[in-house]
Amino acid sequence: MKLILKNGRVIDPANGRDGVADVLVVDGRIAEVGPNLDGSGAEVYDATGLVVTPGFIDMHVHLREPGFEHAETIESGSHAAAAGGFTAVCCMPNTKPVNDSATVTSYIVERARRDAVVRVFPIGAITKGSAGEELASILSMKAAGVVAISDDGRPVMNARVMRRAMETARAIDIPVINHCEDLNLSAGGDMHEGIVSTRLGLRGIPSASEDVMVARDILLAELTGCRYHVAHLSTLRSAAMVAYARGKGLSVTCEVTPHHFAISDQGIRPYDANYKMKPPLRGDEDVAAMLDGIRDGTVDALATDHAPHPGDEKMQEFEKCPFGILGLETAIGLTFERLVHPGLISLQRMIELYTTGPNGIMRLGLGTLTPGAPADITVLSESIQWTYDVNKSPSRSRNTPFDGATFRGGAMATIVNGAFVWHRE
Ligand SMILES: [Zn+2]
Repeated sequence: MKLILKNGRVIDPANGRDGVADVLVVDGRIAEVGPNLDGSGAEVYDATGLVVTPGFIDMHVHLREPGFEHAETIESGSHAAAAGGFTAVCCMPNTKPVNDSATVTSYIVERARRDAVVRVFPIGAITKGSAGEELASILSMKAAGVVAISDDGRPVMNARVMRRAMETARAIDIPVINHCEDLNLSAGGDMHEGIVSTRLGLRGIPSASEDVMVARDILLAELTGCRYHVAHLSTLRSAAMVAYARGKGLSVTCEVTPHHFAISDQGIRPYDANYKMKPPLRGDEDVAAMLDGIRDGTVDALATDHAPHPGDEKMQEFEKCPFGILGLETAIGLTFERLVHPGLISLQRMIELYTTGPNGIMRLGLGTLTPGAPADITVLSESIQWTYDVNKSPSRSRNTPFDGATFRGGAMATIVNGAFVWHRE
């Protein structure tokens, strides 16, 4: 079982490598990286003109199984991940039942082993049923395989409960991920509160609903000493507070989604549910702050918040539609188009944001081409022109504002454990 990727530009931030080299894979692990390697007996992949990187990690997806298999399954979501260039995903616990016990965690782990073509790492709930009141079975979920805890989709409103969760997480050294939204401030809102919401006559979700909870959580993270992570950061002030926490030496990290750096509320198609998500697409000054944070290192990772919803749910009045959009297959294209090609960040930085960044937070033992590491590899092209056709997506859902969008730059092949799980036709 040998594979050699010949003559690609190998960018491996974990090892500070950037140069043309071969990558030799033996029995599912990285064997050697260097020029002119002996690939006798190996399957050959010609990577000339392409970029070879550690497998991309999406630390925030919703796979909907168990309970909402009409929207997505672990199998379909894993194929969407592979088609998007991702070799590993972390899945949020807002399934039915919620992943708040070792039983559900084990179910997800087993399903993933059987059905998934990429690695799937479950995230456990913070509270029972993600209801925000009683702590979930965090210790036994950790033993069953969760890599973090979060009530994503919902915030933990009760500060006392959050404190207890942070103390527990600290004791077993896993991160606490919060969906930061003060539900009293955001109640009834459908989009970002600003001039656009006023013009459209839609109820707004103020930036403050995120800001106040990020502030509270940073204070609690300082109190408890836990590793704390802000999911889908979207506002200027939240970014400033994360930078402040970092300046104080706290273990506070954050992620930004491609849609939050790519589109502001000025860019939404009015009343189109494919532009409805939480947090909402924010103002221009917030988008600018996301770009700054991505550039200056305040932002640790890019993550998609891939949130499948079937057509019938998204095809109703705007106010009634659920929040969230697909993300796995458009993330790399959007990152090239909005960040790399305009020169906002280097290709190296882009790769960090999808490899060492998320791996550093979730500690998956991935995101590197070090010999001996699992041979999870993403092959990129900076110049490939392609059009996203959601009707060809392996996802079971179609909710995206990017259907028909054209991208320059994208994934060419996805390799997990030394085997191709996807390649561009
Ligand atoms: Zn969320």
